[in-house]
Parts: sequence; C-alpha cells; structure tokens
Amino acid sequence: MRGLTLVFSLLALLGAGCSVITPIPPQPVIAGQSNEPRTVRLSEMCAEMGWKYESGPGAYQYTANGPRGDRMTFTIGKDVFSINGTRWRQERDAVELRGRDLLLPESTHNFVVKHFGMHHLVRNGVKAGRVEYSMDPIAPLPAGNVEKDPARAVTTELRGLHICIDPGHGGKDMGGEAFGVQEKTIALEVSLMLKELCEASGAKVTMTRTSDVYPTLDERVQLANTCGCHLFLSVHANIAPNSSEVRGFEAFYNGSSAAGQRFARHLVDAFATVADSPNRGAKKDPRGLRVLEKTKVTSVLFELGFLSNESEGKRLSQKSHQKAMAKALWEGIVKEWNSKASVSR
Ligand SMILES: [Zn+2]
Repeated sequence: MRGLTLVFSLLALLGAGCSVITPIPPQPVIAGQSNEPRTVRLSEMCAEMGWKYESGPGAYQYTANGPRGDRMTFTIGKDVFSINGTRWRQERDAVELRGRDLLLPESTHNFVVKHFGMHHLVRNGVKAGRVEYSMDPIAPLPAGNVEKDPARAVTTELRGLHICIDPGHGGKDMGGEAFGVQEKTIALEVSLMLKELCEASGAKVTMTRTSDVYPTLDERVQLANTCGCHLFLSVHANIAPNSSEVRGFEAFYNGSSAAGQRFARHLVDAFATVADSPNRGAKKDPRGLRVLEKTKVTSVLFELGFLSNESEGKRLSQKSHQKAMAKALWEGIVKEWNSKASVSR
C-alpha cells in the first residue's frame, strides 16, 4: 500500500440496510515503485464502469451492481470474488480500506473491465491500450456449502460485536519516541494482534489504520461515528517528559460517559494480569481528547505503558509481550461485551 495516499470520504448512510458508499476520489499513483504490487480501488473501478457498490450482504462483503443488473461480490481478506454467481480467483486478497473501500489487484480490474466489454486497462498505474492477462473461473461451490467467514471465527465470545480499533498516530506522526522505540509502531503492532483476536472470536473489526499512515483525528472520529461500531478503542503508549522512572498503564474515558468508565475499568482490570507494571487506573480524560470527546460510541483511549522508561519501552516492543497485551485487551473487551448494559445495540 506504500505509494498510495489514503483519503477518507464522507460515508452516506441511506436506508436501514446496506450502507451505500460514496466513492473516494482517485488518488495519484506515485511512480518509481515498480516492485510494489499494483492495486486498484473498488471505488475507482466502479466509477470507471458506471457501477455502484455497497457493503454487504455479509459482514465481510462488498457488492457492486451494474446498470444492467450485473452483480459482483468481493469478500474482505479473500482472493475469490464472483461475477453474476461465477467465482474467480484473484492474484491476491481483497483488502479493506477503513471500512469503506477495497484494494484489488490491478489484474482483477483489468479482467473485470474486459469482461464487461471495456478496455480501459491499467498497467503499472498508467492507463494503457490492451494488456494480455488471463483469469480462470473456479468451480462453483456445491449447493448448500456456505463459505466460511474470512475471519474464520473459531470461538463466539464476541459474536455480534462491532469494534473500531484505532492505533494511535502513524505516518508523519510518530507519537512519542524514546530509546529508539516509536509509539506509532507499538500501537499498530498491538492493535493488529487485537484485531486478529477479536475477529477470531466473532467480532467485526473496523480499523482506523492497518499500516504506517496518518488518518487525522477528525477522520478517526468520523469513521467511529459512521461505521456502526459499538465500541471504540484507541491504543497508545506514554512518554513522561521529566522522568525515566515513571511506569504503568492507564485508560482514559470521557468524564461524562458512564459506559466509557465501565469499558475503561474492564480494560485496566484485564491488563493488570499481564502488565507487570503499575496500574494507573481508569481515569477521566482531563485533556478533552478528540477521540473521546467527539465519538458517539463507548470510547476508551488506552496507554499501554511508558516508552520513556527504558525497560518498559523494551518490553512493549517484544512480540511475546505484545501478544500478551493484546490478549489482555481482548479479555477486557469480552468483559465489556458480556456486561451488555454499557453497550447500545
Ligand atoms: Zn499517543
């Protein structure tokens, strides 16, 4: 995804069923990265073809509808898509962009436009005349054989939950940095592990970012308020500017949100079992943090520990400890989801 500037657009929610999604304007492709796998957005492809797309019908699906009743279905995290019921294999999986668009292999775009009688083929990001390619249909599924969710949920603790996970900072904004460890990296690594755990237990997860990019705070808030999530969790690590001794973890909530307080308590209680570090508690946000003030769902900003303490910073960057932290956050989310009272659904 390096080389693509990812930009939010407004998400228009129409009707009670599927959310109809307005296309994101095409972004310039940066030249000189010919080794990168080339991708095309579903929004771009549909705009080019005069099609419309929407999320659904399944939790992990997008459907594109053509003006003559043609229909394509893509599944997040799968390399199989369908055109009018026939399934085709792509070069790579379809990757979701912040809950509103998909990145598809360029070869899928080329195949689809050719399939529908158009020849606006793209090669290496540049529109070209004709490009040779091939794609073979794969055997239809036997009747009654339903494909598994790409998330391959193996347990059901979080079934029905939709959570928005926000790895703090990213891209140009590294957040805190100390002893060579950057906050944006720790936040992303732990958040991606948490995403896996949530999906494996049946939750739908919307990420504000899945790579080293920087969505603005307003974009994060807007996503949280439009994606339909029940919970919003922003993941950060701390810096104590004047002391390398300070250690510990803490969770902030909007002081006017009883649900936020409950969620924050569930998280710190669970985290205390793995942290080996002081529990600084569930706290009212004293700073008016935008992701807590402006989000309309139950929201918490969690600080995993202090990078400014050398040993804690080192620990936060260890994969094994990151896994343990992600598992603890997951347990806090399970407690929150089981309490139900704090979650409107
Ligand atoms: Zn931060």
